[in-house]
Amino acid sequence: MKNRFPTFWHLMAILLFFIVFSMPFGILQVVMPKSLSAWMMLLGYVIPMTLTIWATRKAFNKKGTFSYKPAYWSLFPLVVVVAFAFLVVGEFTIFLLPEPAGFWKKLFDMLNNTMKEVFNSPVAGFLMVAVAAPVLEETLFRGVILKALLKKYQPFKAILISAVAFGAFHMNPWQFLYATVLGLLLGYMYWKTKSLFYPIIIHMILNGTAFVAARFVDMEATEGMVEQLSGKDLQQFLFLVALALGIIVAAYYYFERFFANQPKDIVLATQNRHKIKEIEKILPANLQLKSLEDIGFKSQLKETGQTLDANALQKLRQITIPYDVDAIADDTGLEVAALNGAPGVYSARYAGEQATYEDNVKKLLQELEGVENREAQFRTVVAVSQGANEQLFEGIVKGRIATEPRGNGGFGYDSVFIPDGYNQTFAEMGEVEKNKISHRAKALQALKKLWETKK
Ligand code: IMP
Repeated sequence: MKNRFPTFWHLMAILLFFIVFSMPFGILQVVMPKSLSAWMMLLGYVIPMTLTIWATRKAFNKKGTFSYKPAYWSLFPLVVVVAFAFLVVGEFTIFLLPEPAGFWKKLFDMLNNTMKEVFNSPVAGFLMVAVAAPVLEETLFRGVILKALLKKYQPFKAILISAVAFGAFHMNPWQFLYATVLGLLLGYMYWKTKSLFYPIIIHMILNGTAFVAARFVDMEATEGMVEQLSGKDLQQFLFLVALALGIIVAAYYYFERFFANQPKDIVLATQNRHKIKEIEKILPANLQLKSLEDIGFKSQLKETGQTLDANALQKLRQITIPYDVDAIADDTGLEVAALNGAPGVYSARYAGEQATYEDNVKKLLQELEGVENREAQFRTVVAVSQGANEQLFEGIVKGRIATEPRGNGGFGYDSVFIPDGYNQTFAEMGEVEKNKISHRAKALQALKKLWETKK
């Protein structure tokens, strides 16, 4: 698990991809005529970034998918306000850094000159700063890196790592702090909305504003302006920063409340329609259950573990990891005392790989022919994910195996299982009654309690 993408070395590899892919453009930049240099810069950014995303996915993250879906339109105005408030905070992070001197001053001037070329070209510059950078950087840092981190770590840790990586990627100390703090905001919006839409919008607003401002304000005159603030101006600036921070904190509380009230999507990682029906009836209404079909999963779920726990987790992860969704998966076994717990984890294929429910029941009755002790239990393990959190719940119903199949309801071994305290088999008692006492119901009730206490 810990070695799963992205580790520190994966992040270094991504940086290396970008540097290597950028090199040919660096050379072209030198030999091309000056008049084309802004366009070369645009290409020299877009092509290596696109190749970096492609190579990262090819090498480490093949199953990842992106969503750019606009959603939660009602949040749009507040997101715009937050973006502008962030501009002020961003300015403050630069103010916190000491004025560059010596070697740093040289580096600063070099970077500034490069940026000036971009800013001096209205079309190519704008496309690069306000369009390409937001789309490509969000795709890489939120869509690929953060999305995978959220499957590995708790949200705060995942967002923090992605933000620091985003800061480091800028490869210059002045932007490091700014981009890291910005990465927290962008990461938060991605985590909450599961879409790149708002991170891209915020990024576009910030970069677009910076671009326009830089074209209208003389860069030489403003260079180091904030650092030189003093007296009344400084007071005003700090007041503005406090106001912006206030707006961001208030927006944060608003977003938290807003998302807590949104219905939560959860995918049922099962292909057994009997189970889907049972589970739908038991789970709380604020969960929006989705099927494997809804998310486009068409292959067969694998279950090759040695225990119910392992199988439940295996089924869960086949869905949660590639599709970036929360899911519920379960694995059930019929454990018969006289057969030392068999068929247990092999219940589905007790009579062979392609066995039908009838074949399995037949084999079970044959194995138990003349056997006095008919004690058995159904045991279900339900695995559920909430981001990187995975939890297991168990439900057991004890009973005995009938001597012949009885009843038409249910599925699997229902026709030969008589729960303790009853004379009817599960197949005779009907859905409603079975759902009150069944192994799956018990595991799901425990799970339901978890959701209710979290709300
Ligand atoms: P699964 O691996 O959880 O799908 O369950 C394995 C096998 O256990 C199924 O193929 C069924 O034969 C049996 N099974 C699971 N749940 C039930 C149940 O509620 N009643 C009867 N048989 C069940």
